Amino acid sequence: MTTRRTIRWGAAAVRVATILTGVMASLWVGMPLLAQDGAPKGPAAAAGEMRTWTDITGKVSREAEFLKAEDGQVHLRLKGGKETKIPLKNLSKKDRDWVRNEGAVERVAVHFHLVADMEMAKGGVAMTNWLTPEMIKKTVMPEVNRIWSPAKIEWTLSGVTPGKTRSEGRAATIATLLATTRDSEGKSDPERIRKLEAILHENRNDPRAINIYVIPYLGGTSQGNAQPGRRWVCLGQWTDKPSREERPPEKCLLVEGEPFQQGSFARTVAHEVGHILGLNHPEKNVPPFQRLMGGKNPAYDLTAEEKATARKTAQTLFSTPR
Ligand SMILES: [Zn+2]
Repeated sequence: MTTRRTIRWGAAAVRVATILTGVMASLWVGMPLLAQDGAPKGPAAAAGEMRTWTDITGKVSREAEFLKAEDGQVHLRLKGGKETKIPLKNLSKKDRDWVRNEGAVERVAVHFHLVADMEMAKGGVAMTNWLTPEMIKKTVMPEVNRIWSPAKIEWTLSGVTPGKTRSEGRAATIATLLATTRDSEGKSDPERIRKLEAILHENRNDPRAINIYVIPYLGGTSQGNAQPGRRWVCLGQWTDKPSREERPPEKCLLVEGEPFQQGSFARTVAHEVGHILGLNHPEKNVPPFQRLMGGKNPAYDLTAEEKATARKTAQTLFSTPR
């Protein structure tokens, strides 16, 4: 009969540790992975969690911080700062599951289509297209990734391309969008989205990315819309949400950061892609508040359940063609 032991690498276990050094050598590749400047490097989104790792035999455990999983190797930083790696297959099932479910960064691609042929004006304001590919790349994407980093989901940019609409139906769609307001329950007419989809139909959707269409304006107090079934998001660059339509639309804040005050274009992107990853709006008055998905006092937080749902959806998002 074998006794399952967990050896912690604390001072009290040093003697046992010495005996097990032979076993260790065969399973753990004690290779220092310090970068050139001596500073340990790992993806910020995944790093930072100190936990106990056990090998597949169940006999050897070590306290270490997870750095990354790459090419079948799990990179760890041991207590004391030394970096090491171990093949994923040599870890206990519990650790392998942790790496798959929580440790590894999930990457999801987004593709922006900047729609430039919809002329829209409201309240005497000509809502021109002011958002540039440079702004998406340098300002919006880093903020979306900042917001999502606690879920260990990284958004990659597969492209920013000009978007076109079909001329047939364009004028009617613009008229519908300009006339849309929220009803007493806070809902906007979903018909406007169906019309929009119809005129955006001729764009080449990127099949390996969430396609994000940026148009001038999406209707009264409306800033974004997501259609999870089609991995489709639409956003406006102009908004009258802060004034609740009291004033003419103004350019969205590109990024607001924290604390949340009125919301930004980048936060709306982060919110809408949350819907694509299977998240819904929380009940308005049920805590916790300060959430990315809305509710009372919306802000940036994701609950543990939301992070798990989003990660799970991200893993299979592109496994079926749409
Ligand atoms: Zn929403």
